[in-house]
Amino acid sequence: MTRVALVTGGSRGIGAACCRLLAARGYAVVVNYAGNEAAAQAVVAEIAGSGGRAVAVQGDVAVEADVLRMFAAADALGMLGALVNNAGVVDLPARVDEMSVERLNRMFSINIIGSFLPSREAIRRMSTKHGGKGGGIVNLSSAAATLGAPGQYVDYAASKGAIDSFTIGLARELAAEGIRVNAVRPGVIDTDIHASGGWPDRVAQVRDSLPMKREGTAEEVAQAITWLLSDEASYVTGAILNVSGGRG
Ligand code: NAP
Repeated sequence: MTRVALVTGGSRGIGAACCRLLAARGYAVVVNYAGNEAAAQAVVAEIAGSGGRAVAVQGDVAVEADVLRMFAAADALGMLGALVNNAGVVDLPARVDEMSVERLNRMFSINIIGSFLPSREAIRRMSTKHGGKGGGIVNLSSAAATLGAPGQYVDYAASKGAIDSFTIGLARELAAEGIRVNAVRPGVIDTDIHASGGWPDRVAQVRDSLPMKREGTAEEVAQAITWLLSDEASYVTGAILNVSGGRG
């Protein structure tokens, strides 16, 4: 039976790179997106053009009904074997004493609950306790979890700190049920996320301060994620892998 991978936020950036690589490894892929249908369909078309299978599914990771819909789409494709909790957001630079409750609710809902809900659905399908055949979950943390992002977005950094704890706890909770749970902590990666944080030139501006004097690519992060999901990482669970070129 076809093994299925569900990638939240698979339409752009790191998520899109994960979709392409997982499809190349033989997974049928659910490409979740929030609003950019054209980008999601472009990823699906690229995968189909290379002989793979993928479907685009709109849905907000923080909304339970949407998450259930994404997993129904995965069930229609085959047997779930992998989940990448990739969808995540930043916000405009602000100090904590300037943050509205609306901002905090959005940040923590998407970045934290938006990883818990898909994980819950994946566990119900993959855990041997529920009759499943096992699988892998990879969470997207950030170098910000250890750096704190002062003056920029401490709320984002804290949401990724929660992802680190989530990864450790969930890995231990599921270790005897055939599911490995790991995280990657990307550094500065060349994607659209910096523009959405109000700092479109961030990569160019910080490049020289990075240990390798360059940013990372979405593909470099996706390679690490794909490895964590593969059998080559069969004794790796609860790991939080820096993919940051030495930053953080
Ligand atoms: P990105 O280029 O901004 O892409 C974000 C993706 O998430 C898009 O596919 C977007 O869908 C989707 N998305 C946003 N909100 C969503 C929601 N509520 N529900 C479902 N999907 C949603 O981001 P990225 O840079 O690839 O980042 C991916 C992950 O890596 C995030 O968790 C981020 O925190 C983490 N990370 C990134 C960096 C970096 O430097 N880029 C560094 C550390 C960690 P649409 O296309 O429909 O908008």
